[in-house]
Amino acid sequence: MARIRLHSLIFIGMAAGLLVGLFLHNWVPEEARFLEPSIWVLDFVGKTMFIGALTMIIAPLILASIVAGICSISNAAALGQMGWKTLGYYFCTTMVAVGIGLGAVLTINPGKKDSAVAVREQMAEKKFEEKRAYIEESSSRSAGEIFKQDIVQRILRNPFKSLVEGNSLGIISFAILIGLACVLIGEPARPVADFFIAMNHVMMKITMWLMGMAPVAIGCIIASVVAQMGGPALVALGWYSFTVVFGIAIHIVFLLMVVKWVGKMSPLVFLKGIRNAWMIAFSSTSSAATLPVTIRCVNEELGVDPKVSNFTLPVGATMNMDGTALYEGVAVIFLIQVFGDLIEPAIVLTPVMTLVIFITAVLASVGAAAVPSAGLVTMALVATAVGLPLDYIAYVLAVDHVLDMFRTSTNVMGDAVGAVVVDRLSGPLQEDGPELPGMRSSSS
Ligand code: ASP
Repeated sequence: MARIRLHSLIFIGMAAGLLVGLFLHNWVPEEARFLEPSIWVLDFVGKTMFIGALTMIIAPLILASIVAGICSISNAAALGQMGWKTLGYYFCTTMVAVGIGLGAVLTINPGKKDSAVAVREQMAEKKFEEKRAYIEESSSRSAGEIFKQDIVQRILRNPFKSLVEGNSLGIISFAILIGLACVLIGEPARPVADFFIAMNHVMMKITMWLMGMAPVAIGCIIASVVAQMGGPALVALGWYSFTVVFGIAIHIVFLLMVVKWVGKMSPLVFLKGIRNAWMIAFSSTSSAATLPVTIRCVNEELGVDPKVSNFTLPVGATMNMDGTALYEGVAVIFLIQVFGDLIEPAIVLTPVMTLVIFITAVLASVGAAAVPSAGLVTMALVATAVGLPLDYIAYVLAVDHVLDMFRTSTNVMGDAVGAVVVDRLSGPLQEDGPELPGMRSSSS
């Protein structure tokens, strides 16, 4: 209920922000004395406070979330092959999602449309020339040097230093190591696993508190963006939003093909079975809030064995976020397309850089909490991995809520497809084998 109210409030905030921004941009003369202080206040509330607060929790949130996610697999280890099939499915579909996203953004090039170029020029003005030398220097680094400096050396850094510096690659890889070690050690490492699981709950709670600021903060950000840039900013974001939604549509077609060919279930039966979960995910923008409905739909409407879905769906809600992964890759590349050469140091989208975005988007989606706008928080990790200052994230924040609706419903759909597929593939592995065939035949 509270989440649905928040969602309505965010829409009201967006509409109000748009009106305020249009008013400031179109009707207030540039020399008006209150224009500058108004924009200062809008930026302070939206960027300094809201983005600042989200940034504050990134490092502990990611550490706790990834360790907790991996530790939840300890049950999967007990379930043997089913756990590995589940992980294999999550890994493959998330990679496909990021691949589709990168393909879409690199084909559509939303950050290179005229409207986006106009936005960038307004931001940049004279700064571009100063950066040219750095761009040339960056492009002169060999792929091997970039791999060594930007990937290996960042991964192998003192983890405490990574936490302090917000070095996302370092945090993610250390979290994976802790999680894997906990799973392999088992009982003696339980206190460590429990600590991170509890920490994850705490971080999710703080994220939810911060989301209370979202309606006003997002309104302020929209108002500030529109007031300073007018139409072009919105058109640029229109192309960006279109790219995300287009990528998500292709990924849904892919998921339905997986349901049909691997899960052996009619896509129509599947869509009908999960429509309630899909709608709740779309409106609540939280996979966690949707989980009880997802489990019910998958068990009762799709006839998946609860032994499979009760394991795969909660782990999936934590770790498997196709929509989020796709979105993070698109968003970061879009921002690089628009602002890359204005940033200090400038960002050049080399193949290695694209690979870093691919890998960190997959990992960051694993680290995203299943709550509203969590993908926005972990997107900062992908951004820092490629040296994109977090301030720039404010430019996509304006449309984040709408895109969260699309990516959360895709996350939930991906989890449900996973349950169907793992159920189909794990049939002979079940202890109570006879139960499964009957359920399956009734569902497909
Ligand atoms: N809101 C999404 C979810 O709960 C996560 C995200 O923000 O991408 O699945």
